[in-house]
Amino acid sequence: WAEFTHPDDVPPRQELGARMAAGHDSYEEERRYLRPDGSVVWASVHVACVRDEAGEPGYYLAYLQDITERTRMATELAHLALHDTLTGLPNATLLADRLTHALASARRRSAQLGVIFLDVDRFKVINDSYGRVAGDDLLCQVAARLTATIRASDTLARLGGDEFVLVCDDSSGQAAEHTAQRVLAAVRRPYRVGNGEITITVSAGVALADVNATPQGLLRDADDAMHVAKGLGRDRIELFDEALRIAAEQLLSITAALRRALELGEFSVAYQPVIDLTTGAMVSAEALLRWDSPDRGPIGPEQFIPVAEKSGLIIKIGAWVLEQACRQLSRWQRIDPSMTVAVNLSVRQVMAGDIVGQIKGVLTRTQIRPESLYLELTESLFMHGIAHFDTTLADLKDLGVRLSLDDFGTGYSSLSYLSRFPFDAVKIDQAFTRGLGATPHDTALVASIVSMAEARGLTVTAEGVEDQSQLDTLRGMRCDRAQGFYLGRPMPADAITDLLTRSHRWQLAAAPPRAASPPIYEHTPAPAVPTAPAPPPPPYIRAPCTFTRRRPSRDVMRLLRTGE
Ligand code: C2E
Ligand code: CA
Ligand code: CA
Repeated sequence: WAEFTHPDDVPPRQELGARMAAGHDSYEEERRYLRPDGSVVWASVHVACVRDEAGEPGYYLAYLQDITERTRMATELAHLALHDTLTGLPNATLLADRLTHALASARRRSAQLGVIFLDVDRFKVINDSYGRVAGDDLLCQVAARLTATIRASDTLARLGGDEFVLVCDDSSGQAAEHTAQRVLAAVRRPYRVGNGEITITVSAGVALADVNATPQGLLRDADDAMHVAKGLGRDRIELFDEALRIAAEQLLSITAALRRALELGEFSVAYQPVIDLTTGAMVSAEALLRWDSPDRGPIGPEQFIPVAEKSGLIIKIGAWVLEQACRQLSRWQRIDPSMTVAVNLSVRQVMAGDIVGQIKGVLTRTQIRPESLYLELTESLFMHGIAHFDTTLADLKDLGVRLSLDDFGTGYSSLSYLSRFPFDAVKIDQAFTRGLGATPHDTALVASIVSMAEARGLTVTAEGVEDQSQLDTLRGMRCDRAQGFYLGRPMPADAITDLLTRSHRWQLAAAPPRAASPPIYEHTPAPAVPTAPAPPPPPYIRAPCTFTRRRPSRDVMRLLRTGE
């Protein structure tokens, strides 16, 4: 028997033989045998001892049933339950199990343990533009690369979608970051997809186990850190640490305060003038939400709008801004009927369903002409799949309002969205305006956006104009409109009313060098009209800040995910 018993099963069998000799008369078990060709046969074995009249063991009667197929299926099912079908990697269930064990073992050995959370950057865009099949293929290639990059003792799992988790046994913070760096570098090499080649990146968050670590806590911390990495520009690694924990907690408390802010009247709307570059007249104003919290002081929209989006509060807050802006516009139009207003819409508002009804309502209530309302949308809208917005945007368009593509040029396929959806206007992102005249690349880019927009009959506004030379360059390019601190900071509605009342014209031609004083919200006061003294900047107008284009918005928001 021993000759054709699977070597691993020999010792227990001998043990059982000994037990039978000691008087136990039968046993059954499942065990493995070897065929002459070396392949394994699983058998269900029943053995009984047959004794003679004197009660002495005479012989054994063994009954064997080949259960190889049944065992194979059971093994396969067990594997399926614990592995991801697409890549064959361990799934979330198995990950939880492995992580629990790794953590217990690390604790026993006083060893370190690192968890790396990985998320492919902009995978949705790849799926949308190349199709699901290509997306799946790409994920398999990524999985293979990750597997090749890590140590055999590490566990790599796929949580679903484009999320992977790596558990690094015996890993200090430095070692885990090092592993993450190797992973990022491996992922960056180009992939063959279909007939083409594409390049992708991943963002990584690293969390290290401390004495109190739990599997769920570690995963959550690594996930939080990963979202911060995304917010800070993707294709990078962030380590979960105390600062990150504090940031996450702060976000939680902001959410709580935001919930009450609308009722307590802590919001206001500031308006930033948009200037026509041929006439120097203000043709529009962008409504920008301001929050002055009694406990925290003024908080910039970039901090709280992502929070409001995540919690869904933006739907109510956004409706309020819309109402304020339209009411304000109807007052302004009594002074200047050609005045318009621009309102930013969040993805959540557009997805909420009744945006069309809401806009219709506000137009009726305030009696403003639809074409004097610009709705500013960003490309992030299209990250959520395109089909749904086709009809929503067309319905908005039917109401007669204007649609403006905000932050133009920063997204993935700005141009294709422009041809596909009924936009009337584009706003060139301030990141490009900032480079005007200074970097040839940005200058060329702005010039081509302006001429593209002109060819398509779109109104083009350059955002973030901060000095005369940018203004000169834009006028040279025949850009339609400009907006920026140089022309006017966001200001209270009354200040806009005042400018309209005085029919203020901006002096756009280059000022003599000595006059290059920093403007507050008026670039050059109209000399003929006595000018009211510039009001001190109200508290809700933020101090000048460096505006970074890649705002964390949704990404940082997701910091809150596990807290809620
Ligand atoms: P945005 O739509 O791109 O708005 C322009 C932002 O650039 C404003 O920041 C404005 O103050 C700032 N800005 C204007 N000119 C200059 C300049 O010359 N230099 C610099 N460095 N910055 C300039 P703000 O008011 O902090 O708003 C930030 C973002 O928050 C907005 O970006 C918009 O995405 C969002 N936001 C603001 N109000 C609302 C709102 O009512 N609803 C929604 N959904 N989003 C809003
Ligand atoms: Ca905007
Ligand atoms: Ca913008």
